[in-house]
Amino acid sequence: MRALGSRNGSGSILAGLIAFGLCVSLACLSPLPGPFLEAGPDGPAAVSQEAAATQSPTQLPTEPAVQPTAWPTTQPTMQPSEAPAAPTTGTAWDAIGEDRSLERPEVTRPDPEPSPSDPPAAPADGLSLLKPRRPVDPDQPMIALTFDDGPSARLTGRLLDILGRNGAAATFFVLGCQARYSPDLLRRMVEEGHEIGNHTFGHDRLSRLSDAGIRETVERTQVLVEAATGIRPVLLRSPYGIRIDRAAALVGMPMIHWCVDPRDWEDRNAGRVVRHILEKARDGSIVILHDTRASTIDAAERVIPALMERGYQLVTISELYAARGRSLVPGTAYFNAYP
Ligand SMILES: [Zn+2]
Repeated sequence: MRALGSRNGSGSILAGLIAFGLCVSLACLSPLPGPFLEAGPDGPAAVSQEAAATQSPTQLPTEPAVQPTAWPTTQPTMQPSEAPAAPTTGTAWDAIGEDRSLERPEVTRPDPEPSPSDPPAAPADGLSLLKPRRPVDPDQPMIALTFDDGPSARLTGRLLDILGRNGAAATFFVLGCQARYSPDLLRRMVEEGHEIGNHTFGHDRLSRLSDAGIRETVERTQVLVEAATGIRPVLLRSPYGIRIDRAAALVGMPMIHWCVDPRDWEDRNAGRVVRHILEKARDGSIVILHDTRASTIDAAERVIPALMERGYQLVTISELYAARGRSLVPGTAYFNAYP
């Protein structure tokens, strides 16, 4: 009996290992991993102990009333081009196990990840992200809408249509694992005056990565975006909103958090998201949304013209800080640009 039990035990362990291996393989091979549900995610509930230890109460990304930061005065952060490192593999996927069932790809591209030798498809002045693409009146109120976790082959195009119709701009914090399948959407974002930021390759919890792991997950996405657009992102957003200034310093980027979070990942209620934004957003707010949700796109359809009717300019993060005369400094966390 003991021997049988032992064999059964070994069998169970073996089966477990095989199942785990399959999960990892499927996650890494999935052509378009679905949305990284931010259930708790890019929200304060998921702030790690490390993050909590470094966050003062007023710095939690939960719509703080006032951000007491003294704005730094050093020059901005754009590093137009160091030679990108070759994409590497093996980034930890700690999002494994999260529900990715809601979004399924329409387009599958077998091996779209560009190699560093591929010429950028849309060469651009690397500094252009810091120059307003549209007239931004620094004396008029402005809000920065940000969209995380995309681009979504299914949804982001519709969002770009909405932004374009309204003459609005936004910032997209893209995941490398999504972006590699939609270089066309990345190009469209840049061509239409939006900004692309880096949200890591695989929605990685930066607090769990080594320094090398942090550099790798960020650099993989930098390489992908630069190959598609000719522009290296200058902004980083930490998955799950974990504040880890060390990571931002390591990769030489400012960490962009937010001050208005309608928690659009929580339900599919576009009306609630619209009401939340209209109630909470004010001059200088940074709003976090996700272009991986159809309900969020529905909300954008309504809230973008509504904000503009209220006199807000909808601008990118770089435009917002430039208009306020504030620099974005590597290794520093930003939550809003209130006047
Ligand atoms: Zn995210």
